[in-house]
Amino acid sequence: MNLPKRMLVANVAWAQEIARRDPQFFATLAQGQNPQVLWIGCSDSRVPAESVTHCAPGDLFVHRNIANLFDAGDDNSMSVLEYAVEVLRVKHIIVCGHYGCGGVRASLMPPAPHLPHVNRRIRPLCELAQTHRAELDGIAPEQARIDRLAELNVIAQVQRLREHPIVARSEPPPLVHGWIFSLADGQLRELESGYEHVSATADLGLELALKRA
Ligand SMILES: [Zn+2]
Repeated sequence: MNLPKRMLVANVAWAQEIARRDPQFFATLAQGQNPQVLWIGCSDSRVPAESVTHCAPGDLFVHRNIANLFDAGDDNSMSVLEYAVEVLRVKHIIVCGHYGCGGVRASLMPPAPHLPHVNRRIRPLCELAQTHRAELDGIAPEQARIDRLAELNVIAQVQRLREHPIVARSEPPPLVHGWIFSLADGQLRELESGYEHVSATADLGLELALKRA
């Protein structure tokens, strides 16, 4: 049996197993979606959002691309963000990168002549690497340097999202979190907590109120 056939057979078994455990599951799913999380992750086949977080269909609104980039000039990224925040009213946005990311590695190497679309797509990563050149040049071996840039990339996307008017002007704004996935042990690590950001903002608000008083 070829691979697509095997996948179709596996789908039947999966649907039957879900329905056996929860007879109302698909009836509920068909009524509409109400996810609380927008997930922005890498297209890498080894970081499937639902699997690594034990989430079910209906839990995550997902956008994946090479190197988990949020690009305000890209209709794909923007339509996903707009729909997630304005219509679905997600409470959380999670940017999830991963160690060993091929897109991040490519941004530290000369552009591949046969991959013009990838080269264009990862240009912001090349610029980010330039911005942090001093720190990155001081890191060895090469894999550690790539992994550090993967972390810096997540943090940059989180900041970009927090500052974007769709997020910032939403009431209440969704919390934006930055995570990174380790292929070596399957675990997620928090780089940026949406909650910390909120408490920092709240502290700042209190500080300003005290100054004004
Ligand atoms: Zn990747």
